[in-house]
Amino acid sequence: MSSATIDTGIIERTEFFIGGEWTRPAGTATIDVISPNTGELIGRVPEGATADMDAAVAAARRAFDTPGVWSDLDPSERAAALRRFADEYEARAEQIAASVSSQNGMPVSVANQLEAMFPPVLLRYYADLVEGQGRDVRDGLLGGQIEVLHRPIGVVGAIVPWNYPETLAAFKYAPALAAGCTIVLKPSPETVLDSFLLAEADEAAGLPAGVINIVPGGRETGAYLVEHPRIDKVAFTGSTAAGITIAQSCAKLLRPVTLELGGKSASIVLNDADLDLEKIGQDLFVATLVNNEQTCFLGTRVLAPSSRYDEVVDAFAAFADSMAVGDSLEPATQIGPMATSRHLERVQGYIDAGRSEGARVAAGGGRPAGADAGWFVSPTIFADVDNSATISREEIFGPVLSVIRYDSEDDAVRIANDSEYGLGGSVWSSDPERAKGVASRVRTGTIGVNRYLCDPAAPFGGVKQSGMGRELGREGLAAYQELTSIYF
Ligand code: NAD
Repeated sequence: MSSATIDTGIIERTEFFIGGEWTRPAGTATIDVISPNTGELIGRVPEGATADMDAAVAAARRAFDTPGVWSDLDPSERAAALRRFADEYEARAEQIAASVSSQNGMPVSVANQLEAMFPPVLLRYYADLVEGQGRDVRDGLLGGQIEVLHRPIGVVGAIVPWNYPETLAAFKYAPALAAGCTIVLKPSPETVLDSFLLAEADEAAGLPAGVINIVPGGRETGAYLVEHPRIDKVAFTGSTAAGITIAQSCAKLLRPVTLELGGKSASIVLNDADLDLEKIGQDLFVATLVNNEQTCFLGTRVLAPSSRYDEVVDAFAAFADSMAVGDSLEPATQIGPMATSRHLERVQGYIDAGRSEGARVAAGGGRPAGADAGWFVSPTIFADVDNSATISREEIFGPVLSVIRYDSEDDAVRIANDSEYGLGGSVWSSDPERAKGVASRVRTGTIGVNRYLCDPAAPFGGVKQSGMGRELGREGLAAYQELTSIYF
């Protein structure tokens, strides 16, 4: 049974989902959820303490170690359970999307497309993949044969940020559960309400007790999970700073870790690009501004050829000015508020830095007129930006794009690669083959031609300060499997 009570519009939860049961928290601390649209309290949940984490890890450990529960089931049995889970998630998808939107400011139209869609697609994809994996038997080079067992790595500690809380959790639990792992998920304190709906979907799907356990909490709860002696792997998505701390903890323990971190990708506009916003507007939106630009992979450095520089600036300024900014729960909204007031201050700080370092505001540049409540910022385009400027170097995570001039294709590739990050990016051209040639020279984990959206079938992740390891694709399953070779 769920522990939800809805009273005067404030959603209150009093128990955690641990070991297949709704469990009273060990402590009394709570997390308040504040609406980014209004600044008002919209929810309250218990905050996980170390004793809650211990209970969650013990439940996951038990589910993993007990024969016949999960890790040693035939893959087809796990696949069937994951498909039921996908169905139950889908049955709640609209409610989950609205919940995410109400907490982090993601436009509900975006949440309905991405947060509603990715988890069931991933669950079914990994169900199919693990079912089709079959036996791996090879002829030995020195005689005899070898069977390579793809075994589940164990209990996974998964830590996710607030920007796509459901999708990024599914990036981890879908392959992990398919592989036979069990999981303890720690959602970010900014987005906790949706995680209770996820627990309800799991409960309704009838996954064995302890396969998924969810304990919301802050940084310290996350750090405790990372170093917990009874887990086997850490899967983290979040900032580069936190990723480095987590990598250090895991190095001490020789604990496998996947890190999906920050980005500052390039959108390279080639000199033959079609800039007709009627035609490319939707794809450009997903590649540069989706989710109020609170998205790790976006191409926020727009590289424009000198020959068409003014035209590119004008097109992006018109694009930004055309955006409907407003309450994230309004279906027509394209740009909602920043997730928290602290984050709004940070984004405003970057806009100030852009101005003070000499960049020109071509669109936006502050709070939209009339937005008194909530944490809104207008989509902002900076022109005359150098790639060495603060707004070109650092991840802003708000709707602020910089248009940077380049002279030749080589120059564009050089500027794109002149970044500490390497996560996403895009190349815009009316000649897709030419664009693919340029894309292949960019040092990044993923990149699109005239579009960008990570696809579950392909490995996703970053190079340089953007992370270590890959999620999604076959590689995403392999990240939760250990190999044992039996020579016979
Ligand atoms: P954050 O690093 O502050 O927090 C992310 C999560 O980690 C939260 O759950 C937080 O409580 C927890 N956490 C923080 N410090 C920790 C520590 N030392 N040990 C254990 N857990 C810790 O990031 P955020 O502000 O919530 O999210 C935004 C960041 O996430 C951006 O940098 C963005 O680029 C990145 N991100 C990356 C990807 C990707 O796939 N590469 C996807 C989405 C977001």
